[in-house]
Amino acid sequence: MASDLAERVLAGDPRGIARLIRNVDDRVPGYREDLRALVPSTGRAHVIGVTGNPGVGKSTLVDRLIEAVRAEGKKVGVVAVDPSSPLSGGAILGDRIRMQRHATDEGVFIRSLATRGHLGGLSRSTSDAARVLDAAGYDLVLIETVGVGQDEVEVTRIAHTTLVVVAPGLGDEIQAIKAGVLEIADVFVVNKADRDGALTTVRDLEAMIMMRGEPVSGGAHAVGHRPGQLDEEALAAQVGWVPPVLSTVASKSEGVAEVLAAARRHAAFLQGTEDGTKRLRRRAEQELLSAIREQIRERAGEVLAARRDELIDRILARAIDPYDAAEELLGG
Ligand code: GDP
Repeated sequence: MASDLAERVLAGDPRGIARLIRNVDDRVPGYREDLRALVPSTGRAHVIGVTGNPGVGKSTLVDRLIEAVRAEGKKVGVVAVDPSSPLSGGAILGDRIRMQRHATDEGVFIRSLATRGHLGGLSRSTSDAARVLDAAGYDLVLIETVGVGQDEVEVTRIAHTTLVVVAPGLGDEIQAIKAGVLEIADVFVVNKADRDGALTTVRDLEAMIMMRGEPVSGGAHAVGHRPGQLDEEALAAQVGWVPPVLSTVASKSEGVAEVLAAARRHAAFLQGTEDGTKRLRRRAEQELLSAIREQIRERAGEVLAARRDELIDRILARAIDPYDAAEELLGG
């Protein structure tokens, strides 16, 4: 039996949705039951993560993606993730203001989530928020994160498709990619293509993708400019999915339709190929591991609270080493 709140979510009631997302974020007792009631109605939404350093144009892009999807008559949910760092605070505030123009549109639901300091908690809240929006009938769920830190990488694992947004001339785009972004990008978006250096950034990214994919034929993969004759099928057969590098001018909506189309090709890849199925399994495994980690953390906290002093005394007395102490604690 679904609770009243779960029923409201399933009926698409925005206030019910907002309430449940808040309950999930605050871990209000009963939220697990509500989420469980939604499970059979999930699995329909395409969850797209949008990540990249502050200032590259993520929220402008998200705003234009909302516009494009709304023009098709589909519903869009947005979860803007705020890692609560002093650096990003202002950026997120900007996002909220920019997206306000959609606030009166019933087909758009926007929510910000902050970490509040509990480790790993943000990705869980985000994942659950995406699930709630999925169950509520949102066709597309956009998860916007700032930066490329560990928290963000974990958050992007929740998405089916991750867009990594870079901009020319910030000087840090390639470094950011070296720091592991290549692993998470399903689609690269070189925004601010109206600026100098955009083509160089596109080429650098393409070169990096080529090196990683070790393609049989040379060339590069780009929408808008195709310097070589890339055998996309042969490359895709080797690496499963070749992240396209797309240029956009988000502030003018240029290239945004192509980004959406690429994200949908990626969704079709996930649904329709063996490699895609493997990725979906990895994603489910990731969700399982996150759930296990969080439950262990919670329980360890509870058990430790009861035996903390005793165990610390024994460690200090050299009566037990910390590993055995941990094992004793968790074994019980
Ligand atoms: P975010 O911090 O990544 O979310 O970036 P924003 O979306 O807030 O954009 C940062 C700034 O770049 C804003 O002033 C935007 O108007 C501007 N901007 C966004 N897209 C483009 C673009 O394609 N070209 C140019 N020249 N400016 C853009």
